[in-house]
Amino acid sequence: MPEGHGIHHFLACRTCLEAERVLPHPPEVDPQGASFLERHAGHKVEALSRVGDAFLSDRPPWDPMATTYLEVTNGSEVLVVRSGRRSVEDPVERVLLPGRLRLDHITVEFDLDLIRRALDAHFFPQAVRPKKLEQFLAMLSELCRGIDAERLDVVFDAAMEPHVQFARLPEDLHREVVARTAGIFDEWERERLRPFLAEASADDGLLTLRVTRSFTLQAA
Ligand SMILES: [Zn+2]
Repeated sequence: MPEGHGIHHFLACRTCLEAERVLPHPPEVDPQGASFLERHAGHKVEALSRVGDAFLSDRPPWDPMATTYLEVTNGSEVLVVRSGRRSVEDPVERVLLPGRLRLDHITVEFDLDLIRRALDAHFFPQAVRPKKLEQFLAMLSELCRGIDAERLDVVFDAAMEPHVQFARLPEDLHREVVARTAGIFDEWERERLRPFLAEASADDGLLTLRVTRSFTLQAA
């Protein structure tokens, strides 16, 4: 699993600003074999737990070279843990940063490539003119731009991307999609589209919305 899922616990040294992830994962042992507590003997060491679900990554989170950020607390203050490696061979280093992750913006989109391919397959062996498909996809993107992410019902989280969730297309927007097909497709095409769109609006259907929350690191 990449960084950023669920509850994490850390041991952190406030003197050196180093952190280490602890159970449910085995404690990390450094190349010299010394445990975190041994290396930070006499320092101000405290236990921190992840707080909230803010997450920032400079690469796809499953990339071993991704540098990721999440928020932790000791119960009275919130800090950021940055995790990353110097090279693929090196162990993950975790650094404690004073600051917060701030929500910068939310992007709501359809998976247009998937919808395009599914539509092609749905109409096969008949073909719909590519221009119409592109018009339809452009209509979907335009619809996305106006969606208020706050009103969406999240149906599941993206397994490998902690900052991505999938949400159900609201019913009024589904009706809007159906209504707007009238200006694009002929009647026989709309007839063929009806069951496709109904199925696509299921919880894990093709019209599920991908909601990406983008955070920025705000240093204290
Ligand atoms: Zn220390």
